[in-house]
Amino acid sequence: MTGDERRCLLLVHAHPDDECLATGGTIARYADEGVHVVLVTCTNGEAGEIADVPELGSRDEIAARLGEIRVEELKEACRRLGPVDVRLLGYHDSGMAGTPSNNAPEAFVNQSLDEAVGRVAAIIDETRPAVIVTYNEFGFYGHPDHIRAHRVAVAAREEAAHRASKLYYNAAPKSLLLQGREMAEQFGVSPDDFFSLDEIERIGTEDAAITTALDVSAYVDRKFRALEAHRTQLGTTEAFLRIPESVRAMAMGTEHYVLAGGGATGETDLFEGL
Ligand SMILES: [Zn+2]
Repeated sequence: MTGDERRCLLLVHAHPDDECLATGGTIARYADEGVHVVLVTCTNGEAGEIADVPELGSRDEIAARLGEIRVEELKEACRRLGPVDVRLLGYHDSGMAGTPSNNAPEAFVNQSLDEAVGRVAAIIDETRPAVIVTYNEFGFYGHPDHIRAHRVAVAAREEAAHRASKLYYNAAPKSLLLQGREMAEQFGVSPDDFFSLDEIERIGTEDAAITTALDVSAYVDRKFRALEAHRTQLGTTEAFLRIPESVRAMAMGTEHYVLAGGGATGETDLFEGL
């Protein structure tokens, strides 16, 4: 990377709202630092549960144009996070493993992997990121689209002519998830509505395996404002929005990553060493 080349961070996410939950603080921080932040979102999020948003119409009316609505929500969320170069691949949300939408021919998981890899590789060659961020091989929590997004990101990095120096997987330290469970109880949310112990075992990363902890405490408000833009999302988003403001900075003020291939420890910046 030459000194005058603008730094670029490229994130590959599966659905609208994943960018906020996992990496909203990271996006806001680097956007503020003048980094060219590129967000690739693979699907339009058509399969998730739908929250009541009366001004958008009835549930059925929302369902009928859900992808379109969620793309608009994503764009609004990105406006709130900072300048973000949003690239929509426009695939159809596959839904959770075992659900009928998983078998639909148009589902992201049933589309050509090579085609998706080629499209992301072209974006890498155009934007020349030094750092790429995506999920680990379990897609963080096992959603088929997240696993697919991981595979696409990893293969696209290999296929692109431009060599991105670093690849990171977003991660949640087990200690933080366990702490969240305890706090959930204090604020009247059932611990299992937050994360069950089994889920924490499955999706949490051993603290010692975390290579990079990013201080995003100054961006927690923006992260939540962006999360609120995803008005039709239910479930996890809603659970996070129930976290009282007084503890948000503590609970959400650090975003954690694992450097693919290892070789790092105690990093505080994704561009460290570049
Ligand atoms: Zn997702």
